[in-house]
Amino acid sequence: MEKRISGTTALYCLIGTPIGHSGSPAMYNYSFQKLGIDSAYVAFDISIEKVKDTIAAFRTLNIKGANVTMPCKNEVAKYMDELSPAARLVGAVNTIVNDGGKLTGNITDGVGFVRNLKEHGVDIKNKKITILGAGGAATAIQVQCALDGAKEINTFNIKDDFYKKAEKTIENIRKEVSECVLNLYDLEDVKKLNEKIADSDILVNATHVGMHPNENESPIKDIRVFRRDLVVSDVIYNPRKTKLLEEAEAAGCKIVTGIGMLLWQGVEAFKLYTGLEMPAKEVDELFFK
Ligand code: NAD
Repeated sequence: MEKRISGTTALYCLIGTPIGHSGSPAMYNYSFQKLGIDSAYVAFDISIEKVKDTIAAFRTLNIKGANVTMPCKNEVAKYMDELSPAARLVGAVNTIVNDGGKLTGNITDGVGFVRNLKEHGVDIKNKKITILGAGGAATAIQVQCALDGAKEINTFNIKDDFYKKAEKTIENIRKEVSECVLNLYDLEDVKKLNEKIADSDILVNATHVGMHPNENESPIKDIRVFRRDLVVSDVIYNPRKTKLLEEAEAAGCKIVTGIGMLLWQGVEAFKLYTGLEMPAKEVDELFFK
């Protein structure tokens, strides 16, 4: 470390809470070292109440960039000088870039999702997609898929606060991407759900259903919806293969796990920080297997 940190070392960080378990410092520091970049990355435990002061400190200390995790992603967006088109539509930020004092907020979750599919040979352009969920991850996916040329996006959510927020998000996406058909339905409407899955190329779970410790749950109760030409993806990465993916795979669907989305959203953030491609294959082997 004494060889790595010098008087010129640039600092990057993660903010959110809890962050003690995060693999981000290891992943970014490994990549900085591997590419010979004079930068270091640390994690700060930051609650929503401290976001305003934290962003002011970024400016004072010239922190070069930051990843943002729960619960700060929405709050951070309020204090940026600029937002990327996706971050504006999602209303959340997971990557801040400090360019000579100007802070730009980006959201790389959706880019990570699209890239993960691409790495599995699936292109979302002109595709019909059904997304289960309308929370943070689901919205980032919905927005990025619309921006990247999906033909139709059907969002299903239970009638909670996320549902109301999704109505507004869809309105905003429609203003910017008029050629994408966007629909919102109640997740309890199983008839509509089955009908839309039957007409979709890709099914994505972006709800908490199936996440540890509830590994025995799946958001899809009627497994007859799985067919060989349906791609089924889950954003959940704990467990690595959810019950949804197990059942879809058994029915012959191509499946795409959530851990790749986590890797590729990090790769995208690294590119925004440095302009360089993270050594993704090595990072994947070392930190994601
Ligand atoms: P969130 O709280 O913003 O959204 C949760 C979503 O789940 C909402 O749509 C909510 O309506 C739905 N939901 C909750 N309980 C439900 C139930 N019982 N039945 C049906 N729907 C239910 O959460 P988030 O940040 O979007 O995270 C969702 C999942 O995505 C988590 O498992 C998280 O770990 C994962 N995630 C993965 C990545 C990745 O890179 N792979 C990135 C972000 C989030």
